[in-house]
This record gives sequence, structure tokens and C-alpha cells, in this order.
Amino acid sequence: MSESSENETASTQEVVLSFMKKMADEMDIFDLTDPKLARMLTKTDRLKRLREHFYYPKCGSLPDVDTSLVDPNKDAIYLCGNSLGLMPRVTERIMREQMDKWARMGVFGHTTGELPWAYADEAALDGVAQLVGASSEEVAVCNGLTVNIHVLLSAFYNPTDERHQILLESRAFPSDHYAIESQIQMKGRNPKESMVCLQPREGEEILRTEDVLEYIRKNGKKIAIIFFSGVQYYTGQFFDIPAITQAGHEEGCLVGWDLAHAYCNVPLHLHEWDVDFACWCSYKYGCTGAGGLAGLFIHERFKKDNRNRMLGWWSHKKTTRFLMTNELELEEGAAGYRISNPPIHLVVPIIGSLEIFKMVSLEDLRTRSCYLTGYLEFLIKHFFDQSSEHRKTSTSIKIITPADFHERGCQLSLKFSKPTDAIYKELVRRGVAVDKRYPDVIRVAPVHLYNNYVDIHRFVTALKDSCAAVELQMPDEPSI
Ligand SMILES: *Cc1c(COP(=O)(O)O)cnc(C)c1O
Repeated sequence: MSESSENETASTQEVVLSFMKKMADEMDIFDLTDPKLARMLTKTDRLKRLREHFYYPKCGSLPDVDTSLVDPNKDAIYLCGNSLGLMPRVTERIMREQMDKWARMGVFGHTTGELPWAYADEAALDGVAQLVGASSEEVAVCNGLTVNIHVLLSAFYNPTDERHQILLESRAFPSDHYAIESQIQMKGRNPKESMVCLQPREGEEILRTEDVLEYIRKNGKKIAIIFFSGVQYYTGQFFDIPAITQAGHEEGCLVGWDLAHAYCNVPLHLHEWDVDFACWCSYKYGCTGAGGLAGLFIHERFKKDNRNRMLGWWSHKKTTRFLMTNELELEEGAAGYRISNPPIHLVVPIIGSLEIFKMVSLEDLRTRSCYLTGYLEFLIKHFFDQSSEHRKTSTSIKIITPADFHERGCQLSLKFSKPTDAIYKELVRRGVAVDKRYPDVIRVAPVHLYNNYVDIHRFVTALKDSCAAVELQMPDEPSI
């Protein structure tokens, strides 16, 4: 999908549908919901072979699958890469090499071989910097995401009586909420006064950019830091990072971003967008495995500012670090925010994931993602929209994720008119991996790296069957 002016007036759904219609016409397919179209779109997809670089689970290897309903040897319907990305095959090989090195030479591995452990994180910097739109001095890979939120806020949150607030979303991820709350307390402030959680309008699911900007313009003088998520985990909304960052700067605030659901999902330009600082985890769209190594970004303007922060021996300049003088010479840029030596077990999956991103640009993946997610949106609306004449179940589904692709990434968040627990259970029996988020959403993410149109079509079929099964079990279930 081009971001150029020619499509400026067409909605995302119109653009996706006109592409689908063109492809269907070439095949004499008259019904866009025909599984033949999904197969054809998958077959002609230029990036279809990326999937082969991942271990893609089979139905039979997922827990709680009912083999009377699905063939255990068939590919699972894995649409949960927003929660945990699949494992790149190359990661296994690099991990084996490094474990082998450990077995053979022990401590000498720190400074020997292709990936000396003591400097392994540095081997990832160029690749990671490119993924977030930064220079390699502006990024570091270290710690977990929430730890990095603490590392950043302890350095950048310096409240004064005039300017002491941190502005975040009311539906921020719990870990972000707790980290911010505790940072405010540790700086001797009261979260009731200093923690401001912005809510969507009454009856709405997502925060409107215009409302965020207006709040900042009206109240910015009291705000020390604006800390939002780039892509919201619950709604899938992709915030307008440059506009919110600029509005914050105009009022003298610092603006930081949690990019957990944005990293490797959508192209980012952190330097150009003038973001002050940011952090992310890598195990969602970045495919580095559970608890994978997180990252952080510090804008170049803070490169030499020497501000107080949490320190460790890895914050010390590499050239004199091992002189052990206990007189700190701070590394410049993001490197000076590191604390511990890099964990090779966690750096390897980052290197593995970067091997994948050498084969394909995030821009090309983004284009693919717009069509995959647009196709999912079409099928859901066709079969489940409250007003659709094609709806055959009494369950209806509302998509709470924004309809415009500029405002979303891979994920769609579905809200059901029936309790989601029962539907979720039925989906699992049919080999579907998606996730349920309380109170009432199921998140579905066709990931541009390894999912295809057939996965999406199979998911929607499984969803129809699941709803039908639940309606049989509890015919009198009231709609909510
Ligand atoms: C996934 C996610 C986290 C997880 O934090 P960890 O420190 O990696 O456990 C935190 N915040 C957001 C917004 C997330 O999406």
C-alpha cells in the first residue's frame, strides 16, 4: 500500500478490497470470501517464503487441540505473534555455536571468536538502530523492558514543584503503570497528583490524537514527561508519535515511548521524530523468545549530558573499563545507560532476528501487513458485523482497532457480543493461537513475517465454527 497522495481519499478497506477484486477477477472468482482466493493470494505473495525461515507450529503440537476437529499434522493457525513471535531457524544455529564455544573455551569466549560475548550486544546495534530509525550510538540492547522503563525514568524524571506530572494512557500496560507509579513515589511525589492517566471519550475505545494534543496544549506546563505506548497493546492503536512528541516539546515536556508492540511491527523513525527516549521488548514482533533482551533509545542531544542515572561497570567507557580504577568515565550516548555485561543467551536471538531483517525491509513488511490485516478486517466484518446480512451466528463482533492503516499495525482487537471465554476455548480446540485480554477482547495478529492469507481464512472459518459451537452449548446466553 502506497503512502503517497494517490490513495489519500480512499479508505484502507477500499484499497485492500480493490486489490482483492482485481486478483479475484484474474482467477474468475466471484466471491471474495472464497478460500480459493486466499490460496491464490498466498501463492502469488512475493514474501511467502519468509515463513520457511521460522519454526511454524503444527496443530498437533499445541496444547488442548481436539484432534477430532483438526488434523494434527496441519499447520496451526498462529496469530499470536503480538504476544510471542515465532522462532527463527537461524537463531537455533547461532545459539548452538555459542554454547559450543562456551563448552570448548569457557572464559576465553568473552573476547574470542566471531561474537565475543563481552561485546556481543554491540554487534546488534546497527541492525536494531535501523529498525527503530536511529543511529547506533542512540540505541542499546540490555535488560528487560520494564527494567528499561525504570532505567530511563530514573534518569529523565526530575520533578519540580511546577513540573512534576507524568502523562500516560488510562489503559497503559500494568507493568508501565506500576513502573511509573513507583518512580513517582521514589522521587518523593504523590502519584495522585503527579500521575495523569488520559482516558478516551465517554463510550469510545481509543484515545483521539486531537484530544491528546489538546490536553498537552492546555496542561503541558505541569507535565515533566509524556510516556505513551507506540502501538497500544489492548486496542492495537498506533499513536501519532511525531505529532504527540512535537506537542510535548512545544510545552517543554520530555517525551518517551514504550515501543513493545511497535518494534518490528511498524517502521519507526525515532531520531527524525525527535523522540527524547524510548524502550521496547524484542520477543513480540522481534521474535527473540520469552523474556528476550530489551532495547532503549536516547536521542543524540543527550549524548554527552552526563545526567544522573543508575550506573554499573558497563556504563563505563570500554577503553578503560577494565583498569578497575573506580573512577567513572561515562560512555557517551545510549551505551552509557547499560549496567551489566551483555547476556549472550539473550543477545543471540537478537542477532538471529536481525538475520531475518537482512532479507526484507520493514517497509516491505508493512505493505504486506496492511493487506493481510485488511483481509482479516474484511472477513470479520463480512461474517460478524452487527449489520451484516451474511452473519449466520447470533454472535456479532466489533473491531475496536482503528480502521485506517496509519493508525494500526498487524493486530486487530475484537470485541464480542457474547462472553469471550467460551469462544476462546473453542478456538483453541481448533488449533488457533490468539490471545484473550481482560475484560473482553481477543487480539488477532497476522504477522507480516510468517503469516499468510490462508492462515487468516482458516482462522475466520474456525471462528464461525467456534461461535456456532458456543451458541449450541448455551442457546440462551444473553447478548452483552
Ligand atoms: C509486553 C509489554 C510489557 C512487558 O514487559 P516486560 O518487562 O518485558 O515483562 C510491558 N509493557 C508493554 C506496553 C508491553 O506491551
